[in-house]
Amino acid sequence: MIPYSTQLIEEDDIASVVEILRSSHLTQGSKVEAFEEAIAHTVGARYCVSFNSATSALHGAYAVCGIGEGDEIITTPISFVATSNMAIALGAKPIFCDIKMDGNIDENLIEALITPRTKAIVPVDFAGKPVAINAINTIAKKHHLLVIEDACHAFGGDINHQKIGSFADMTIFSFHAIKPITTGEGGAVVTDNEEFARKLRLFRSHGMVKKQLWNSDMVSLGHNYRMTEFAAALGLSQLHKLDRFINIRETIGRYYDERFGNHKLFTIIPIDPNEQSARHLYPLLLNPQLHCVKEEIFIQMQEKGLGVQVHYKPIYQNSFYTERYGEMYLSNAENFYRCELSIPCHQKMTMENAEHVADTVLKIIEKYGSRGCSF
Ligand SMILES: *Cc1c(COP(=O)(O)O)cnc(C)c1O
Repeated sequence: MIPYSTQLIEEDDIASVVEILRSSHLTQGSKVEAFEEAIAHTVGARYCVSFNSATSALHGAYAVCGIGEGDEIITTPISFVATSNMAIALGAKPIFCDIKMDGNIDENLIEALITPRTKAIVPVDFAGKPVAINAINTIAKKHHLLVIEDACHAFGGDINHQKIGSFADMTIFSFHAIKPITTGEGGAVVTDNEEFARKLRLFRSHGMVKKQLWNSDMVSLGHNYRMTEFAAALGLSQLHKLDRFINIRETIGRYYDERFGNHKLFTIIPIDPNEQSARHLYPLLLNPQLHCVKEEIFIQMQEKGLGVQVHYKPIYQNSFYTERYGEMYLSNAENFYRCELSIPCHQKMTMENAEHVADTVLKIIEKYGSRGCSF
């Protein structure tokens, strides 16, 4: 089975983790700091605060800018549930904005959703393709809102050679096993705001500050959301490979673009030439005549060893959300969910693998294409 995404762990990654396991500090040592500095440097942000997941990083980001009871965030329904869940965890309400057919929030629909309760706009760089961050920043500035970018798919991506992580007030990355680089589980917030960074460090570690000798003071409510030293060591080792990983995914992505461009049964999502997508996912969008056979196509691809997946069921369709907020329907989000299929694209694949995936995808889709659906 070729999974849609997976980690690539090499001998030097393993050695860097083993070195920490043999050392005196498994937690709260210097590796985490070194990893944070390297991440901040890579993306061109002043501060990086690491977490044990992107979910806890999102929780921290929302908390330290004061999002709480009665507040609203404007976000996308085409994301992993954690993006909106962590705002709800603080008593806020996610307001879902419809998307464009590239999977990213439609920046032209955001302004109409702003209310006196809105605190932040939370876009997600779907599949790694950068959102229209400059337009979103302009809207946010005009209405005195924060932009918190969930860039869990997009670590290493850029717009005109400016890295994602340097545009928003806070940007969140995930280092989960299948994300662009990994620490096993892990995440981070990058920001230029010193106050946010200070509060994020407190939030991550019980809200405690050291005083003299044994004395410490707990100044705010916090959690234990810390990354371990061996996770940070793995992250540092992986970070050296970021460009290579992106190049491999980009080469596969471009190969797919060529094989799949202008197909009559499905479309692909083109990447602007002035942007670098991290290519976390490679989405196909099936034309309407194939929607009724998507399940069969999905099953056939899995039977042929392609670990395909669908990203994502609109968050508001989950029962937790419908029970809380009622039914919702955003037409592009619904349509996107109906037609999207993510096929394998990751740094562990060879070009032979990519060729095999493309051949298999075309064979299966074209088989069902001749049948089609009736309306
Ligand atoms: C993976 C992901 C998360 C959660 O990341 P974890 O590190 O697994 O907590 C949040 N948002 C998006 C868009 C993701 O893809």
